[in-house]
Amino acid sequence: DATNGNGNGNGHSPYLEDSRTGLGVDTLKRAIRNNLFYVQGKFPEIATRNDYYMAIAYAVRDRLLQRWVASVKQYIQEKHRVVAYLSAEYLLGPHLANNLINLGIYKETEQACKELGLDLDWLIEKEVEPGLGNGGLGRLAACYMDSLATLEVPAIGYGIRYQFGIFEQDIRDGWQVEDTDNWLRRGNPWEIARRELSYDIKFGGYVQTYLDRAGKLCFNWIPELVVKGVAYDTPILGYKVNTANTLRLWKSEAPHSFDFQSFNAGDYNSAVNSKIICENISKVLYPNDEQIEGKRLRLQQQYFFVSCSLQDMIGIHLRQGEKIHDFHKKFVVQLNDTHPAIGVAELMRLLMDVHQLEWEEAWDITSKTFAYTNHTLLPEALETWDLQLFGSVLPRHLQLIYEINRRFVDYATIKLYGNHQKISSLSLIGEGPRKYIKMANLACLGSFAINGVAALHSELLKKTVLKDWYELMPHKFQNKTNGVTPRRWMVLANPELTNLISSRIGEGWIKNLHELKGLEPFADDPEFRKEWMQVKFNKKKALAKRIKKRLGLDVDPNSMFDILVKRIHEYKRQHLKVLHIITLYNQIKKNPNMDVVPRTFIFAGKAAPGYRKAKLMIKLINSVGEIVNNDPDINGRIKVVFYPNYNVTNAQKIYPAADVSEQISTAGKEASGTGNMKLSLNGALTVGTLDGANVEIRECVGEENFFLFGLTADEVAKVKSEGYKPWDYYSENPNLKEVIDQINSGYFSHLDSKVFKELTDSLLYDDQYLLFADYQSYIDTQAKVEEAFKDQDKWARMSILNTARMGKFSSDRSIREYCDEIWKVESVPVTLD
Ligand code: PLP
Repeated sequence: DATNGNGNGNGHSPYLEDSRTGLGVDTLKRAIRNNLFYVQGKFPEIATRNDYYMAIAYAVRDRLLQRWVASVKQYIQEKHRVVAYLSAEYLLGPHLANNLINLGIYKETEQACKELGLDLDWLIEKEVEPGLGNGGLGRLAACYMDSLATLEVPAIGYGIRYQFGIFEQDIRDGWQVEDTDNWLRRGNPWEIARRELSYDIKFGGYVQTYLDRAGKLCFNWIPELVVKGVAYDTPILGYKVNTANTLRLWKSEAPHSFDFQSFNAGDYNSAVNSKIICENISKVLYPNDEQIEGKRLRLQQQYFFVSCSLQDMIGIHLRQGEKIHDFHKKFVVQLNDTHPAIGVAELMRLLMDVHQLEWEEAWDITSKTFAYTNHTLLPEALETWDLQLFGSVLPRHLQLIYEINRRFVDYATIKLYGNHQKISSLSLIGEGPRKYIKMANLACLGSFAINGVAALHSELLKKTVLKDWYELMPHKFQNKTNGVTPRRWMVLANPELTNLISSRIGEGWIKNLHELKGLEPFADDPEFRKEWMQVKFNKKKALAKRIKKRLGLDVDPNSMFDILVKRIHEYKRQHLKVLHIITLYNQIKKNPNMDVVPRTFIFAGKAAPGYRKAKLMIKLINSVGEIVNNDPDINGRIKVVFYPNYNVTNAQKIYPAADVSEQISTAGKEASGTGNMKLSLNGALTVGTLDGANVEIRECVGEENFFLFGLTADEVAKVKSEGYKPWDYYSENPNLKEVIDQINSGYFSHLDSKVFKELTDSLLYDDQYLLFADYQSYIDTQAKVEEAFKDQDKWARMSILNTARMGKFSSDRSIREYCDEIWKVESVPVTLD
């Protein structure tokens, strides 16, 4: 049993059965009881659910700390090279069950709880997750932290301790409404505040120049505002190893509680105000995915966490008695998108203004320190900052960027022999009515490696958004296809399937996902297929129960669960799925006795609060659901569900219940996707375009086990260059026309014909994401899905083969590649005293 620890250590350490580290049932029981009393100050008669949760969490934390201290001690003593992962987002998901699995004490803790009259699952169910990210990018950072620790690689994850994470979504009258995510309200047992670890971060003001005694030109940044960054550490334990790495998130505070000058002058309000301004910086996560919002506070957040992190790294390096000149040998800094790209200018500032290095040496170190991961092909998602805004927040960095750019443009002018168009595209500064800073260019220039996140994405980067960079510096470009951690996304989310798999091929696959290959022969075993489908059915039943509880809606677990869950975005084309549902609805209406495979369409995902069309897509899904779910002609054969508040907790319940995984973005728009991997790993069959990692998933699972549709990225580009006219598709395809006219007639909106006009107009007159061009191909492919589902035996075979062939998509594989090909770091097995 994979979730079952062995109760006497994890195979790496001698058994220490003391009350704070022991892993046996009796010891855990004692620890939980002690924590209830000594930490929570409660006794069983008055303890709440949260008290018990805390008591267990602290018992687990003690065991994490033992491994964490051992890891850090060993890294310091042996002076290992360290990966610093810089990410503005970490979408971690709940900690408790994950830590129990990685410690190997899930079963022991369950038993200890039982003997104390507690239900562990009931306690886990209520855990509030830290939603410190928007979607794929933040979740990737979380999977990578798990894999780094599991592969025993010394690493620190740096980020922001947002007081409010991604908003909570509710649906009212079919519309998304947002509520704040107060995830810290009941305390956070997984973090340790390091009050002593803090850095001053400057903002605004101006830069003084002066000559020092030796006649050297020096720069002195006189800020308008100074904010204190305080470290909050969360240990991240690897799976059944002793390595526990650090996730270090920064909280912003006022340097002093009060501005004493104002306070003494009697100006209480402005004294308190400055405290609020400081605390605001880490207050809330910006809820935009694949979209930029050029707000001052966002730039402040980015600089705040990057400066804290680089100062922290330099401190760690110097405290080990090393020289500043060797900084890049100690740390390699991975930039998760351009959000931390200001680090390039900040490291230059620290090396020159604080540590007195000359430009050439500072640049040499800087450009050997950073590596940059690009996450998007959407031009509108490439970060830029208005130059004036930038200069008013970071005046010294603006100077540095000018100088970096001046030297670079000089170099490029010779190299490109005066190709002005190219040079201006490569410049760090964009010209227009208003000048702006191009963060992707800063990241490309300042990094020694640049990678995309799936094979297709990395190729398209070289041909499109980073073409000029590729031509100038081809040696920097690499691909690192994303991956997902099988610990959270299989062992934790799907213990039933985990046990079934392990019963046949052992547990090795949990750490070496390629071993899933061993399942292939079992696809031909009728008994195994039966058990496989029984697990899927049970997971569907469990999801149906949650849907009933949350939405009061009955769905049939015997129906096909057709699942589209991810952020709501036009390029992800949730509305294409709606066109399919309405088409199917119309077919049944015209022929109520037709033989249809019953289907439950399940959507989930958040829309950025300011993204009107995405919010309208949610409303459309719910409006169509209202009609379809209640039409007696349909008689429950198709159902539409919008499951609110998509987050990691809900994702863990949804993925294992999927028969069909919808990955239907316009080819060339999705960088990778990771939901696609999690669904396939859990035995769902993909309906997808040749986009992002779908391409590689299809290569691995085999084209006969994948439902492909739609234009390729090349075809998309061609159709567009030839002058795409969505209206032609509309007028020539009667089914499509009927669907669009129906939406416009108000059929789904109580005869209000205006509600969806913005959406339908954008399709009829623009259709940037080519829904109409892909519509018929999508409908035809869905008919094939339906045929395939009728043969449950064949479906089971395809499902097993999907799982069996997912070995490549472990984040362990991704991280191994980053280690070998970019970071040049090695594993350091940690020993417990
Ligand atoms: N949001 C959550 C909560 C997730 O768990 C995931 C999983 O990868 C994503 C977003 C990203 O989904 P996708 O890759 O399908 O866009």
